[in-house]
Amino acid sequence: MSSSLNSEHSQQSSWAAVDLGPSLPMPVFTSTERWNPERIGALALYCSDGRWGEVFDEFCHRRLLIPRYDRWAVPGGPAWLLPRGKGRDFSQTTREQLDFLIRVHELERIVLISHFGCAFYAELCAKDPNGCIPVQLQEMRDGTALLKRWFPDLTVEAYLAMRRGNNLTFHALGD
Ligand SMILES: [Zn+2]
Repeated sequence: MSSSLNSEHSQQSSWAAVDLGPSLPMPVFTSTERWNPERIGALALYCSDGRWGEVFDEFCHRRLLIPRYDRWAVPGGPAWLLPRGKGRDFSQTTREQLDFLIRVHELERIVLISHFGCAFYAELCAKDPNGCIPVQLQEMRDGTALLKRWFPDLTVEAYLAMRRGNNLTFHALGD
């Protein structure tokens, strides 16, 4: 009953004094990261392909300078912005989720990243990775235009993450 009051005590508490609540089992891991409550106001929408996760993170941290950015990882990434005309309208769901994040996470900037060799586009286009690139670029342009229409106050930028052998590069798309 009184745990919510107790949990508001000083952040200087030692671990022994941290109130985990009555029902939690012992921790199995403690992060080396420290909690930072400050929001950066940016979200990146990219493909969930795990081989690219660290690469996207490095680009966002070191080039775009958005630490702690909101990560939205789905198969195909920005591909989900566009209505596909079959089955459920994921575009509408995407808009509702973005609406929510813009409101509660105070988003001001959205970064779209599409990557070379994306399985989503391989299936959509039935082409090899190079053959998919023109479609990916066009869809990013369409996605950018859609976002700007939905949310005129938002800054939207789009990038293609490219791979040649083991070399990974990022390329900004104009309007
Ligand atoms: Zn992908």
